[in-house]
Amino acid sequence: MAQPPVLRMSRLLLRTLRDDPADAETASHRLLVRAGYVRRSSAGVWSWLPLGKRVLDNVTRVVREEMDAIGGQEVLLPALLPRATYDATGRAAEYGDLLFRLQDRKGADYVLGPTHEEVFTQLVKDQVASYRDLPVILYQIQTKYRDEARPRSGVLRGREFQMKDAYSFDTSAAGLAQAYRLHREAYARIFRRLGLDFRIVSAVSGAMGGSASEEFLAPAAAGEDTFAHCSGCGYAANTEAVAFTADVPAAVHPGPPRELDTPDTPTIESLAAHLGVPASATLKNLLVTVDGEITAVGVPGDREVDLGKLAAHLAPADVRLATAEELAARPDLVPGYVGPQGLDLPCLADPRVAPGTAWITGANRQGRHAADVVCGRDFTVDRHLDVVAVRTGDPCPECGAGLTLDRAVEIGHIFQLGAKYTDVFEVDVLGQDGRPVRLTMGCYGIGVSRAVAALAEQTADDRGLCWPAEVAPADVHVVAAGKAAQLTLAEEAAEALAAAGLRVLLDDRALSPGVKFADADLLGVPVHLVAGRRTSEGVVELKHRATGEREELPLAEAVARLA
Ligand code: ATP
Ligand code: MG
Ligand code: MG
Ligand code: MG
Repeated sequence: MAQPPVLRMSRLLLRTLRDDPADAETASHRLLVRAGYVRRSSAGVWSWLPLGKRVLDNVTRVVREEMDAIGGQEVLLPALLPRATYDATGRAAEYGDLLFRLQDRKGADYVLGPTHEEVFTQLVKDQVASYRDLPVILYQIQTKYRDEARPRSGVLRGREFQMKDAYSFDTSAAGLAQAYRLHREAYARIFRRLGLDFRIVSAVSGAMGGSASEEFLAPAAAGEDTFAHCSGCGYAANTEAVAFTADVPAAVHPGPPRELDTPDTPTIESLAAHLGVPASATLKNLLVTVDGEITAVGVPGDREVDLGKLAAHLAPADVRLATAEELAARPDLVPGYVGPQGLDLPCLADPRVAPGTAWITGANRQGRHAADVVCGRDFTVDRHLDVVAVRTGDPCPECGAGLTLDRAVEIGHIFQLGAKYTDVFEVDVLGQDGRPVRLTMGCYGIGVSRAVAALAEQTADDRGLCWPAEVAPADVHVVAAGKAAQLTLAEEAAEALAAAGLRVLLDDRALSPGVKFADADLLGVPVHLVAGRRTSEGVVELKHRATGEREELPLAEAVARLA
């Protein structure tokens, strides 16, 4: 392999900032901007500058290697897609405002792909005819578009972002289970290699066919997901999923009926305050009463959005908290869907939804769609809303010990979809017995650009970014801390390290050592090699960014140590 060229900071497109960007709430946002890794283009849309692109590429490479290792075949499908494809499954309406929509010059409707289940299903229908061609795992690493209600935290939640999305197709449930297992293991390897601290937790899973779904969460205060875990038995689940565990009576927190004090449409905050839950709370049950009759139990999906939408849909409303007895007394109630469009009451009539079963919301990958969503629809109202949140100390559904709640970033999501999409597009292949078989499908996503932010959240310290070796933009950051002699030694070091196959960042700028040291800490390359005060003796200093450990040694020894 060709020797990688030394990256000279004197030529690098890089401007580090001393101050935090005004709108930055989280460490990754602040530091990735300050270190010149990313630059905001518009809300939730980011440019990746040279050092950032290197980190993103490193994450991509790890993902690709592990996907290839489980037999995944990489493809690249369009991001610009006919809307009809998403209308066919109802997801155009299900996604609602989340979907970027556009028209071509002839007025034909298009969307920018938020995820690609439909398109892969159609591809397989077109390309695969026989069981002999299966199983198959296809994946892509691609720009995705979602018009998020609250793009925030830099690349943590973008409106344009990089996702690795994979899709498996099989002729049997056992095949699907195997594909799911392969992805689960590959994901664990990927996140371990990236250096992420992560948990695999149960996620909200579909009402249909008890399909499995798990999320990979990276614990971090900046995360927008909350997961409950039990130190007793190891149970771990997104609180959205805990909320679906029917018999956790103590997880129900009844309260007295309360009037909404505002006659106007409540905001997320006012509704949350009224209910006594945080605005970001994962809500368990909503009892909706129409004309005094309880008609639905629902759960909101994307909480931040839905609490707001809910507020809009139910205002002005009487709001009270449910009692456990009320819930228990109504086994006929089936979970309703509260999605981006509001309350989806007709879904309750769906014969496939058995009483007491969970109804997916946030993932938007199952459940009812478009046509059934009640949006603006007038149902005469005497509406009550009951909310139950899962809280710290609630009993673990497996062993009864107290649950602990923590915040995390969702970095991956794996899902057994079954025939949801293959039914819509009628994807059958020739079976072994000569008869057609309907394919069963799984989908598996990793937030590639989000993983960069999640890593920054977990590893940064008060001096700046601090990358694990596998993703760092360089292996060694060589600093010429002084004048001509230091620069000469630093260049010698950089060339020797590059010759040994290492990726080297060389600070050859005409700046004071203090500025260079601060920048080196901010940029977060794992090892710094400094040509400084003992340059005349040929001695350099090695500093480990994470620990701050330093030692002085002759250049040749330092190079040998790192190579
Ligand atoms: P979230 O709950 O954070 O909105 P999601 O559940 O809607 O994410 P999925 O549909 O499961 O996301 O997509 C697969 C992966 O894509 C997620 O696990 C996440 O890592 C990533 N992802 C989703 N939305 C975004 C976004 N707006 N910006 C960056 N990455 C994202
Ligand atoms: Mg989402
Ligand atoms: Mg999610
Ligand atoms: Mg998800």
